[in-house]
Amino acid sequence: MQQANIAFIGAGNMSRAIISGLVSGNYPTDAIMASNPSTPKLDGLKAEFDILTTQNNVTAINFADVVVLSVKPQLMAEVCAAFSEQCDLTGKLFISVAAGINAGRLQEMLGGQYPLIRTMPNTPCALGKGVVGLYASPEVSEEQTTFAQALMANTGEVITVEEESMIDGVIAAAGSSPAYFFLFLEGMQKKAIELGFSNEQSRIMVQQAMLGAAEMVCHNPQLELSELRAQVTSKGGTTAKAVEHLQQGNLEGLVGDAMQAAINRAREMS
Ligand code: NAD
Repeated sequence: MQQANIAFIGAGNMSRAIISGLVSGNYPTDAIMASNPSTPKLDGLKAEFDILTTQNNVTAINFADVVVLSVKPQLMAEVCAAFSEQCDLTGKLFISVAAGINAGRLQEMLGGQYPLIRTMPNTPCALGKGVVGLYASPEVSEEQTTFAQALMANTGEVITVEEESMIDGVIAAAGSSPAYFFLFLEGMQKKAIELGFSNEQSRIMVQQAMLGAAEMVCHNPQLELSELRAQVTSKGGTTAKAVEHLQQGNLEGLVGDAMQAAINRAREMS
């Protein structure tokens, strides 16, 4: 990754995940600055990663070539207004990780058509196991897009979209999706408890099932998902009976409808 001074406005979970990946990839720690109003998070980042820290966003912005906007969405307008009044933003690249704020609104908050990359991370990004949707505004150069892709790859897989509206699809397929799996696992755990397993035993079984299935998917990219399913489904066996039941209940259709509901809600909110 080419070197640029990077400032993180907001030193919470998302910033920590990105910084952790940067530092483990040997990005120079004196080229990373985190800004936060309170000191405990800054002290923690300094102790863990030896990066630069400040309680003043203006200091961070003036230091940066690349600014990662990582405060809660409801604070974004106020935070951007405050530093944009006091800093010259020309030549800087802005990368937002905030959910639900589109590129046009972010540029309005910054007070100009600055190069802006909007990303849509999901919660496993905090563990480096996420998916990030990435959209670059027309002002962003190819080189800047490549930089942002490498930066966000510290938190997971990056899916770059050409049309900003496709970010809604990323929300449905990745952003909201951990909850779909949790719900499925809740149903499985409930049944396992009914069958007499303890909370702990049932939790171990369902989490290992998900983890093992995910590993099988990742380790066999040459196989379609339906082929993987066929491999673990003997004709006339127990798995076949369970899968048949799920299909009769139109699980696939239900999942598609749920994703569409997420997209519709994202459009209402933006
Ligand atoms: P967080 O609450 O952990 O971090 C936000 C930080 O911003 C806090 O440390 C807070 O003290 C700081 N802050 C508050 N006011 C500030 C100000 N005026 N200037 C600078 N910093 C200020 O939140 P997070 O989970 O890291 O989320 C950050 C952004 O990432 C949000 O916009 C959220 O939508 C997005 N996001 C997070 C996740 C996730 O998995 N955590 C997933 C998707 C999107």
